[in-house]
Amino acid sequence: MSQKLISKIPQGPIAEKWTKHKEEMRVVSPANKRKLEVIVVGTGLGGASAASALAELGYNIKVFCISDSPRRAHSVSAQGGINAAKNYANDNDSVYRLFCDTIKGGDYRSREANVYRLAEVSNLVIDQCVAQGVPFARDYGGLLDNRSFGGAQVSRTFYARGQTGQQLLLGAYSALNRQIAKGNICVYSRREMLDLVVMDGEAKGIITRNLVTGTLERHGAHAVVVATGGYGNVYFLSTNAMNCNGSAIWQCYKKGAFFGNPCFTQIHPTCIPVHGNQQSKLTLMSESLRNDGRIWVPKKTEDVESLRSHLIKPSQIPDEDRDYYLERLYPAYGNLVPRDVASRAGKKRCDAGFGVNRSGKAVFLDFDSAIHRLGRQVIEERYGNLFYMYEKITGVDPYREPMMIYPAVHYTMGGLWVDYNLMTTIPGLYAIGEANFSDHGGNRLGASALMQGLADGYFILPYTIGDYLASKIQESPPDIRGVDFEEAELAIRNKIGKLFGIRGTEPVDYFHRELGKLMWDYVGMTRNKEGLNKAITEIASLKREFWDRLCLPGTPDEYNQELEKALRLADFFDIGELMTVDALDRHESCGGHFREEMQTPDGETLRNDADYMYVSAWEYKGKHVKPQLHKEELHFEFIPLATRNYKE
Ligand SMILES: Cc1cc2nc3c(=O)[nH]c(=O)nc-3n(C[C@H](O)[C@H](O)[C@H](O)COP(=O)(O)OP(=O)(O)OC[C@H]3O[C@@H](n4cnc5c(N)ncnc54)[C@H](O)[C@@H]3O)c2cc1C
Repeated sequence: MSQKLISKIPQGPIAEKWTKHKEEMRVVSPANKRKLEVIVVGTGLGGASAASALAELGYNIKVFCISDSPRRAHSVSAQGGINAAKNYANDNDSVYRLFCDTIKGGDYRSREANVYRLAEVSNLVIDQCVAQGVPFARDYGGLLDNRSFGGAQVSRTFYARGQTGQQLLLGAYSALNRQIAKGNICVYSRREMLDLVVMDGEAKGIITRNLVTGTLERHGAHAVVVATGGYGNVYFLSTNAMNCNGSAIWQCYKKGAFFGNPCFTQIHPTCIPVHGNQQSKLTLMSESLRNDGRIWVPKKTEDVESLRSHLIKPSQIPDEDRDYYLERLYPAYGNLVPRDVASRAGKKRCDAGFGVNRSGKAVFLDFDSAIHRLGRQVIEERYGNLFYMYEKITGVDPYREPMMIYPAVHYTMGGLWVDYNLMTTIPGLYAIGEANFSDHGGNRLGASALMQGLADGYFILPYTIGDYLASKIQESPPDIRGVDFEEAELAIRNKIGKLFGIRGTEPVDYFHRELGKLMWDYVGMTRNKEGLNKAITEIASLKREFWDRLCLPGTPDEYNQELEKALRLADFFDIGELMTVDALDRHESCGGHFREEMQTPDGETLRNDADYMYVSAWEYKGKHVKPQLHKEELHFEFIPLATRNYKE
């Protein structure tokens, strides 16, 4: 392992590592906590939980977010649920089973110690949320209800209809408000972090832009926590909120934080298909729907033709003429195989000519048999808001005819590399939630992002950051008038000036859409050497075009959304390049990273454990210099390596 890449995984039996580690960490006394300041960037479930937990401990917290209110972070869009190993369903779930499912789901490309801790802490997260009043669904006896998500044979997903993220965020937001009222948290909304300030090798602050006035501001602290979410919008079309971006983590990368597994992207199988060239957003249909919905395409090509020409309705195709391909191919898990497996299987049916809409890029998600079995009312109670949303968007009533779905970009497993303490390679800089390279390896299981974000924020970071801050109790907060802040601010001012100086003809979205197409075609669901090499050349050429032909209206000193988008897109170009370089390096298929050259005879992922059982951690080396790859070797001591099998 590289000298710079020390994972700090504690020794000892897997079930004791976290407890032992906590016992050995330093703590900060209450009187000293009051002297220490921490910046938390982001107010999604990761940031809001961390900020409230740290403030509750007594630290002084400054919180930043792009939206007008912390509670409008992208986490509100999470629909399906949050995993935990409570075993309320009495179906033989356990911490160990959740640990195993997550390692297997991630195709053996995540750290055992982190994943075990995540499973262990998952139960505390549910207790915390219940205490905050999150209205989880309950069964007839009053216990919290569970449903199933992909990659698991037990029901361990806690949910609040199809609005779990929103309800969880309201809980975290109320905890945040409690601390705002006490004066322990100061919220800076409508602020965008534009750079990280590093002093003497340690993270000491950030530069932000006030999105309303355009003013650049300096903020210092003893430590910085980045909780800015994922970078799926590099693909332009994704299920992510429009403001999701990768800029903050990219700034940290350029200042010395390593980027872990950048190419690991999750494509979600059940999204409303693309319907036109002018579309700027895709809508997710939650994975929870696969509990009761059955996925199929017609068996006969003549039925496909008739559907595309609107001569028949799907409900007119008899059961024996339907190919429930997930149930056929993966009998043990059926419709609840993990997302990468379901997505590829759907794409294959469409590539073989069985796609059911005009573009040939859609399959059915059908509730007919569930409605017959359970009655419409039960389905309405479980998924009512999702059905409503689907009908509003497509004009089709999913209680009568099946939904049409197709895979779309949804989540990024890659992110800033962090050690066991969630610290990046820059001392004092932490990354949590989707912003870190996370515990999900090559593929995240459904309902595990909320689990991880809240575990990081409520129960892991509040312990580990104390160990770092214990050595800072005699340091005053950094002087924001210093040269490091000065230089960082100037660099941003120059970059903004350069963007306005281009005076070209094309708007930001033109370039973003083009970048998205390149990424989807060559660094999307399937990848190969030729395509990746092509992507590297074409992204570089599009990037040059962007810096030559961008048209930016308005001025920097006002509310200017085009400027916001341009700054983010400038980073997306670089992130896209790094993702491509990483995908090219990883000559194996694992989870969502499918290299066409590396597949089994029946088209499944083919890992190469001998050569690629590592986390790739990329180090920035300068503007036109190739980044350096560091490898964190992965060891599987507690779960034997195996080929993923969802058939038996
Ligand atoms: C449609 C949809 C449904 C989902 N459903 C589920 C589900 O059911 N279960 C599940 O487990 N997961 C689900 N996920 C994934 C999950 O919602 C996300 O991974 C998770 O919410 C991310 O939380 P976060 O706190 O890391 O980041 P986010 O919620 O994305 O928050 C990022 C925060 O950072 C701020 N920010 C970003 N950049 C900057 C900057 N430069 N300066 C200042 N602030 C910045 C934003 O304003 C925001 O406050 C879903 C995802 C989508 C897209």
